[in-house]
Amino acid sequence: MPTHQPIFSIVLPVYNEARNIPTLLQRLTDTMNDLEPRYELIFVDDGSVDGSVDILMQYRADEPRIVVLKFSRNFGHHLALSAGLDHAKGEFVVMMDADLQDQPEEIPRLYEALKQGYDVVYGRRRHKKFSWWRRTTASSFRWLMKHWVGFPVPGGVFRIARRKVVDAVCSCRERHRMLVGLMSWVGFRQSAIEVEHGHRLAGESKYDFRRQWRLALDTLTAFSVRPLRLAWWTGLLFSISGLLSAVGVWAGWLFLNRHTPWWIALMCVGFFLGGVQLMAVGIVGEYLGRLFEEVQGRPLYILDDVERIDVYGDESMSSEEEKQ
Ligand code: UDP
Ligand code: MG
Repeated sequence: MPTHQPIFSIVLPVYNEARNIPTLLQRLTDTMNDLEPRYELIFVDDGSVDGSVDILMQYRADEPRIVVLKFSRNFGHHLALSAGLDHAKGEFVVMMDADLQDQPEEIPRLYEALKQGYDVVYGRRRHKKFSWWRRTTASSFRWLMKHWVGFPVPGGVFRIARRKVVDAVCSCRERHRMLVGLMSWVGFRQSAIEVEHGHRLAGESKYDFRRQWRLALDTLTAFSVRPLRLAWWTGLLFSISGLLSAVGVWAGWLFLNRHTPWWIALMCVGFFLGGVQLMAVGIVGEYLGRLFEEVQGRPLYILDDVERIDVYGDESMSSEEEKQ
């Protein structure tokens, strides 16, 4: 059936990647022309200052399947990805980085895996080409998300998703977002394949410590209000230990006639009162957490499918309308 819509949309965030674009485009178009020529390449320029947009526009003159979205300034990797998803029209949407660390040649493999009956297939990066420090901090953070928060965030950005998943992700409009986490949150059938993680072709990683830290905080706070609860539990621990020590001091004085130094008694009171205060902060935190979740404004639920036969047909509708 002829269609004017693309089958594949490839979303690529670009922040000062001018030197990578020619090779990236060559490899992407080679791969996609073999796989399915009805595709679009959505480049989201995230406020580049190295002429990335000019290069993209030059290529666009000969290749109408290139779409260029230009941000007015740098908004960040995950907002660039979100803009790309918002504009993607394809039935299958691929997200990948523009520095060739995600290899275009892996797209057919992701698609093959998707066809096995999944809605999202993400790449689990083999032999990560990040520094030792980056790998350690990232894996510690993933561990924390999985075991403490109970919300694992699997895989990197490189992935393929069906339209219904993209629509669900696009319906979440929170500002501080970690797109991979959001795609995990919406559910559906997800799977992973191993992909090779390449070296960055040119330029430097934009994820310095500050950006990594910000992303980690965005992820933690977007999917959990647990840090707010910490105050409550710490407070409880402090006030119980304050109370128990006070009972010990009092029992020592009563039964053993042992006089405890004044500063120990003072510490008991301090522990107890400090604990009570922390618990009060924890209670405020509980309300704040709920408020935060409301403000995020995520959909209440996401339907994968609705099985329903309209047994009453249109007639019942008209009789309903008549009644009103
Ligand atoms: N990127 C972006 N905005 C930013 C930072 C990065 O659009 O503020 C893009 C960047 O051009 C690349 C992708 O996001 O295509 C991943 O960035 P990078 O390679 O620096 O991250 P790393 O591979 O080190 O995680
Ligand atoms: Mg990279």
